[in-house]
Amino acid sequence: MDWSLLGCGASGHVTFAPDEPELRKRLSVTSPEGASWRCLRCGTFVIGEPASGGPVSAAPRVRRGKELRSAFILRLFAVERGLRAIIFAALAIAVWRFSTSRLSIEAAYDQMLPAVRSLLRELGFNVNHSKLLGLIQHAFQLNPHTLALLALAAGAYAVIEIIEAVGLWLLKRWGEYFAMIATSIGIPYEIYDLTAKVTVLRVVAFIINVALVVYLVVTKRLFGVRGGKKAYEARLRSASILQGEMDALAAEQAVRAEEAAQAEEAAQAGHTGQAEEAARAGPAPGRTDQPREAGTARGPD
Ligand SMILES: [Zn+2]
Repeated sequence: MDWSLLGCGASGHVTFAPDEPELRKRLSVTSPEGASWRCLRCGTFVIGEPASGGPVSAAPRVRRGKELRSAFILRLFAVERGLRAIIFAALAIAVWRFSTSRLSIEAAYDQMLPAVRSLLRELGFNVNHSKLLGLIQHAFQLNPHTLALLALAAGAYAVIEIIEAVGLWLLKRWGEYFAMIATSIGIPYEIYDLTAKVTVLRVVAFIINVALVVYLVVTKRLFGVRGGKKAYEARLRSASILQGEMDALAAEQAVRAEEAAQAEEAAQAGHTGQAEEAARAGPAPGRTDQPREAGTARGPD
């Protein structure tokens, strides 16, 4: 899948006219239909005015190819973390309110229970096997202090998940580290949980968390894995169209500079040779053909 094209399809091409004339030439083409500019994401030439312009340092940072795919994956994880945050925040609030207004809820529960039981029985549920009722009954046996601690723990977990969600959504390096570390800390507990009882929800949550940790460490090169941050950024640079053109231009200029230096050297050699000749044979007829001589002198090099 070409993620760059997909990105351009979703949010349009990114064209940029740099102030630097040589770079400008490399990024644009003039055709009968008018000038077209190279998209910095998908690389196609787009007819029309460039979207923006300015010095090359002001060029937009464009995500392409693999980086775009990785941004998509990280944002999927961010959404999943956000959902966890909402669930645990709701749980924290519910437990907190339950722990503070325990008596009234207990009374309500006592009143409601017979009605719920008969309703469930009519629906064909065996109330004695109902997990939810069991949980509610179990919660009533906990003292308010324990409940408050439970609410606090759920709230703390929600906060951690919010930070993870924000960091991953913004594609920040700190977000990747935070998500990786926070998720890793939870994994031993999740394994313990699974040894106690295997449920679909637990298995899914466990797989998502392990996948996130492995994905972050391997593709984001956290903790120096596969060359670390330097290698990661070098790969991004090598994937940039603008950087590619700048490198090609620099290489071209280096070749040109070397050619000029060689030509000058040859010209100087020719000049001194000619001067010696002139000294031997009298006044020179003229030096208009000197550059061409220098050019041929360069040949055998
Ligand atoms: Zn494009």
